[in-house]
Amino acid sequence: MGEEAVDGRGGPAVDLAGAEIRGDMEAGNPPIFLPRQPAAPPLLALDIGGTLIKLVYTASCCGAGGAELRFAKFERRRLQECFQFIRAEGLLGCNGGTRASRENMTLKATGGGAYKFADDFREKLGVCLDKLDEMDSVVSGANFLLQNIPGAAFTHMNGQRHPINVSPNNLFPYLLVNIGSGVSILKVTGNRKFERVTGTHIGGGTMFGLAKLLTGCKSYDEFLQLSQKGDNFVLDLIVKDICGELVCQKQGLSTSTLASSFGKVITSKKKLTDYKPEDLASTLLSAFTYNIAQIAFLVASLLGLRRVFFGGSYIRGHKSTMENISYAIDFWISVSLGWQDLNICGLSSIRSQSQMQAVFLRHEGYLGALGALMSYGDCSGENFTLEEEPQHESAPVDGTSADEENDSNIFPYLLVNIGSGVSMIEVIGKGKFERIIGSHLGGGTILGLARLLTGCSSYEEFLELSQRGNNLTVDLTVGDIYGEEGYPKIGLPASTTAASFGKVNSSKLSEYKVEDLAAALLNSFSYNIGQIAYFVANLSGLKRIFFRGAYVCGHEKTMDKISRSLKYWSKGEVQTTFLCHEGFLGTLGAFWSYENMGIDGLAAHEVIREVLLGAPYTGQFPSLPATQQDNGEHNSLEGEVESLRHDNTMLKAEVERLQRENAELRAKLARPDEASIL
Ligand code: ADP
Repeated sequence: MGEEAVDGRGGPAVDLAGAEIRGDMEAGNPPIFLPRQPAAPPLLALDIGGTLIKLVYTASCCGAGGAELRFAKFERRRLQECFQFIRAEGLLGCNGGTRASRENMTLKATGGGAYKFADDFREKLGVCLDKLDEMDSVVSGANFLLQNIPGAAFTHMNGQRHPINVSPNNLFPYLLVNIGSGVSILKVTGNRKFERVTGTHIGGGTMFGLAKLLTGCKSYDEFLQLSQKGDNFVLDLIVKDICGELVCQKQGLSTSTLASSFGKVITSKKKLTDYKPEDLASTLLSAFTYNIAQIAFLVASLLGLRRVFFGGSYIRGHKSTMENISYAIDFWISVSLGWQDLNICGLSSIRSQSQMQAVFLRHEGYLGALGALMSYGDCSGENFTLEEEPQHESAPVDGTSADEENDSNIFPYLLVNIGSGVSMIEVIGKGKFERIIGSHLGGGTILGLARLLTGCSSYEEFLELSQRGNNLTVDLTVGDIYGEEGYPKIGLPASTTAASFGKVNSSKLSEYKVEDLAAALLNSFSYNIGQIAYFVANLSGLKRIFFRGAYVCGHEKTMDKISRSLKYWSKGEVQTTFLCHEGFLGTLGAFWSYENMGIDGLAAHEVIREVLLGAPYTGQFPSLPATQQDNGEHNSLEGEVESLRHDNTMLKAEVERLQRENAELRAKLARPDEASIL
């Protein structure tokens, strides 16, 4: 290289010409060779996230010309070790130099910790942090890898890893799902052009936090190793467990579909200590990985995007994680092929352009840090362009008030049935409905996890605990990551939950109050159900959602959380109604009977069918003969069937009660002096 490129603030730029990965093509985070980059002075950029600090820096490569990009990470709580590493590697460019010689030195840094720990860097290293927007850095890092590094991206399916060549001409638009402590989902339309479409608080922090509490694991590697040896079939409820192989065959259902993560725990007499850490780890990994993949699938479908890149340290080059994501995306594509009759906006483009594809990046955890490093050559001042966010109205879109609703205009609507799992059905008209999708994180998951974490014996007891708890002792907020200002640029105040259970540091369950764990569980999963329901309603253009099911009926706190979630995600656009509680029915459509709502056709066996549209099951022993799975769970399977029968009886009784109530209300309506009370 001739002259050293210099940025607008006097900093050297990174010369990307001829950049390539050298060495083992399978290795995770291999150095990236930059033949034209001078080895000195070194460049260093950091991404200080909610869990990990990621470093990318340049170093000389064994006497050869040029330099290479190297990667390192530290837990955020080990900031001092990170400082020692920076000093020991001479990454401040003046190894052995005085504090005064570093006085004007700035390091590029992104992530919330760049704001929170700026003073520590000044005090301990004597450097200033040039703070860069996190989303902008993540997008720049992804675009850098995809546009400059051959072999940076690959697919992982059926145990096979295939590098994909991304042509810069057809790279955009794509969906970037960055799975860190929480998850950010971005639509990327160009270099520095993107929109943060959504995110979820159920991310890596949630999985690892729960993993520490349930398995006692101390490190993420230990957790991943455990999950590798475990069998999630021990805790997960799959379709076969609910209706048996014969019924599945008769109804054309896949026996191995995951109906409810942790769903078997409810009917089992086992305590947490009776379960193997391996099985718990395996269940956690599939539960959360499928959930993230499902949200990614729904968002990509909504936006009509067929290429979905996954980043963030959650993936960590772990084969099962990638396999589960790819398998899940494929599974939901096949489910979506059954949505022929539904008016689902983005689907046609996905189908016509071939299938949606999950793509992974070899340096997935370092996107933000890479983006920050790239900005050393940036003279553009303002560091990113957010695409215009679509404007949401706050009033119901159709302008119809609840009071004006009548039997003729309630269709179509989305019916969300929260049982052990969650099923979502578009009800088009009287007796006409179409199953859309389901979620394996339902009531069975909430109660199953509640049993393991709090030892509670009923849903009522769990709710009662949650009422007294404070989720903030275990949930990681945006404020914990960024400081009290939050992350205003993308509209996330400090109080927003960034990662449920993301603050759990200890592996000792006894250090946490059961009330707080219950509160965090309720928040986390109710919001998740609300979010998925919102995406599904949005995808099918439905403005009304009705919830029902044993896990919401009569439970005000659950209903409250779901309503808040829907209000938050839809910005008030979607109307939420619960079909089980006098209070709600009183204000919203007391006149509708189940019959009028078109759901009377969903009889008992149909309810079972609906529940089954959960997630794919990729446990390692899906086809073991029954005798080998004889681990005392037979009783619990029978128990589960029994409990579903019980649920059905309760639902039937409720329908009858509502029909009676409906008749009474109609009778009252006929008397004008009493109608005003409604
Ligand atoms: P953040 O920027 O929020 O720290 P990352 O992209 O670094 O996010 O991902 C953090 C997540 O990655 C964790 O929540 C966990 O799921 C996973 N992870 C991977 N490696 C580790 C590790 N060594 N320690 C803790 N978590 C890890």
